[in-house]
Amino acid sequence: MKITELFKKKKPLVAFEIFPPKADVPLETIFDSLEKFKSLKPDYISVTYGAGGSQKGRTVEIASKIKNEFGIETMAHFTCVGHSKEEIDSLLDSLHSQKLNNILALRGDPPVNQPDFDFSKNVYRYANELISHIRSTQKDFCLAAAAYVEGHVDSLRLKQDMLNLKQKVDAGVDFLVTQLFFDNRLFYDFLDKAETLNINCPITPGIMPIFKADQIKAITARSGCSLPAKLVLLMDKYHDNPEDMRKAGVEYASVQIRDLIDNGVDGVHLYTMNRPKSTQEILENAGLL
Ligand SMILES: Cc1cc2nc3c(=O)[nH]c(=O)nc-3n(C[C@H](O)[C@H](O)[C@H](O)COP(=O)(O)OP(=O)(O)OC[C@H]3O[C@@H](n4cnc5c(N)ncnc54)[C@H](O)[C@@H]3O)c2cc1C
Repeated sequence: MKITELFKKKKPLVAFEIFPPKADVPLETIFDSLEKFKSLKPDYISVTYGAGGSQKGRTVEIASKIKNEFGIETMAHFTCVGHSKEEIDSLLDSLHSQKLNNILALRGDPPVNQPDFDFSKNVYRYANELISHIRSTQKDFCLAAAAYVEGHVDSLRLKQDMLNLKQKVDAGVDFLVTQLFFDNRLFYDFLDKAETLNINCPITPGIMPIFKADQIKAITARSGCSLPAKLVLLMDKYHDNPEDMRKAGVEYASVQIRDLIDNGVDGVHLYTMNRPKSTQEILENAGLL
């Protein structure tokens, strides 16, 4: 089923994001987690695409198993970075033939160890071009795209980033999923800006629980998102105590989600980090189980 249909039936939708196991790890290692995720009754599970276009087969294979063997609706992330037109079309054919009709269409980050990757050499330089292409195939996909509450890390001006987002939505996006953020006020401001630009599709906030104090450095460097003082204080307090840090991260994410629900969000996209236990705790705390 298309996620657009789910939005008509329920609010808020609860989505889990998972990532495929590394290439040298058997695919089956994810199945145990999927059983546990299934018991938490998500509305759908999204499956990431390896950075720089790696692991593309695994995304499709796992999305297919989630849908056909676990009976859960799914959304495949799809980045066009580094892919030829033939590869992009073959992947679209593969998704379409397996009835995987929900796609999160992304430009993608540079391939690993190529920070100076030249995106102008891509078949599609920006996500809006990929989205226009997918729409031009006449395949009936439900398309989501990424939105950046604090602006994309490469963008020089927030206003331009919002205009780029509007262009992407107008290319044929059904709903948006945001990058993580730790201060809900930023999300509400973002919704106001989107409304001003007539971005009227559902916008699902992406929430990432912090489980380890040192995880945060890599995340903020990659995403450019800001850290509220109260989160920094939590990390300082629990830096040497991993289990207490995990619990504090669960609590922080739960409070964020509860507040978002109270403010009428369309859905919640939880970056689960493939951790069913913490995901369950967050849903329980947030009143979603
Ligand atoms: C919810 C979510 C899930 C993600 N999942 C994955 C994943 O599975 N795999 C992965 O590798 N990465 C993933 N990413 C990361 C994403 O690939 C990167 O953030 C990437 O750098 C940008 O992708 P995009 O589709 O947002 O790009 P775009 O929308 O193309 O934006 C990229 C940059 O270009 C600018 N821009 C956009 N359009 C134009 C234009 N027409 N003209 C000029 N400038 C423009 C934007 O302002 C922005 O700075 C995810 C991000 C989010 C938020």
